[in-house]
Amino acid sequence: MGDEEMEVETEEKGGDGQRFVVKKWNAVTFWSWDICTDTCAICRNKLYEPSIEAQANPGLADDAGYSIAWGCCGHVFHLDCISRWLKTRSVCPLCNREWEFAKIEKIATYGDS
Ligand SMILES: [Zn+2]
Ligand SMILES: [Zn+2]
Repeated sequence: MGDEEMEVETEEKGGDGQRFVVKKWNAVTFWSWDICTDTCAICRNKLYEPSIEAQANPGLADDAGYSIAWGCCGHVFHLDCISRWLKTRSVCPLCNREWEFAKIEKIATYGDS
């Protein structure tokens, strides 16, 4: 008589060919209005609206409050929001990568109403 040791086998689930492919983030093809967020993480205003600063002080706001800036990391903020942030830190507020402007665009529809 001996004690039989129970061996617990863990079966790997999901073996039906499901695979996660790590895609290289090629930002260039990704810049569009279909970005996964439409909110500025700094001021929490919508990116297709002026920054909260520009909304609060329409007289003071220059173009920066009515522009949005893409970083090379793929994150997007109002130009004046990220500019203010960059005065203290030179990294992206969301991912901490060194900030580099990839593209700046005016908020197209604003001021037309
Ligand atoms: Zn903002
Ligand atoms: Zn980022």
